[in-house]
Amino acid sequence: MIIHLKDQISAIEAGKIAIENQAFHIVYNNKNVLITGSGLKEIPLELESKVDQFWVFPNDMQLSSKKYQTEKREVQIGKIKIGGTTNNTVLIGGPCSVESEEQIRESSELLVSLGLSTLRGGCYKPRTSPYSFQGMELEGLKLLSKMRGEYGLNVITEVRDATQIDEIIEYSDVIQVGAKAMYDQGILRACAKTNKPILIKRGFGSTLQEFVQAAEFVLSGGNENVILCERGLRTFETGTRFTLDLCGVAWLQEYTNLPIILDPSHAMGYAYGVPSLARACVAMGIDGLLIEAHPNPKVAKSDASQQLNHAEFTALLETLRPVAESVGYKMI
Ligand code: PEP
Ligand code: MN
Repeated sequence: MIIHLKDQISAIEAGKIAIENQAFHIVYNNKNVLITGSGLKEIPLELESKVDQFWVFPNDMQLSSKKYQTEKREVQIGKIKIGGTTNNTVLIGGPCSVESEEQIRESSELLVSLGLSTLRGGCYKPRTSPYSFQGMELEGLKLLSKMRGEYGLNVITEVRDATQIDEIIEYSDVIQVGAKAMYDQGILRACAKTNKPILIKRGFGSTLQEFVQAAEFVLSGGNENVILCERGLRTFETGTRFTLDLCGVAWLQEYTNLPIILDPSHAMGYAYGVPSLARACVAMGIDGLLIEAHPNPKVAKSDASQQLNHAEFTALLETLRPVAESVGYKMI
């Protein structure tokens, strides 16, 4: 249940009420809001005089649901905005991993030359083998931050462990919670304590309900800046790396109020399929697209097979712009 308390109740009093009722307390749109599990269907008697408005839900998709808030949430990413009524589709480009200053500078220059705003690059890579490249860690974050300063780009990078959050906040604009980290409550709770945008990638074996509940961990902890990212599910199919769940995207658009970003690069796993898949994604009217691109994909230290080279990335953007326009969106 979500409860809006009456305006005369102070935040301190609201906090006490939350503790007494084992509820979460957040301030949202200048309202003191309490959130309990969805099992609660009626306002407790002793609370009745303090309640302004309340919503009952069939499951724990609450703050993120259209039933609570029909308008899509707006999220500020550095200098740009997505969601809300912006109709922006942000193209987040850059390599899977930050590998060197030269490499990430080339990526930055590509984005700037195309009028794009947001650079990605992993520094703490959640690899499936301990023998694979694990990322440049703090050194990589400092390079991203340098690019942010020199080129005015927004920077997004992933967290692998809750202990890295403070560093990542210092050096970047968006914290990416990877598909394997989606269930890591230490990470989700730490993300809830910041006000940075959190991009949560759907676990490749997660239901939509589980995915949305990961977002609820962050929202109910007080961070309202959550973005969902569909990046492909593991199915019986082995010809492609994962299977991009566009049906799930339609479901999220119908039932949640969160901005949605699609990642065809990780879903496909092979560069040849990324452009057409990207156009299909943009045609759904989405808030962002995440495309991995590398100055020389053949020598990439992670996800080499799926990264576009810079000529391919440039050509792709040209074909995406009219697709976005045809559904009332703008590529930024
Ligand atoms: C990535 O974005 O490079 C990545 C590792 O993504 P995912 O968590 O979706 O596998
Ligand atoms: Mn990757």
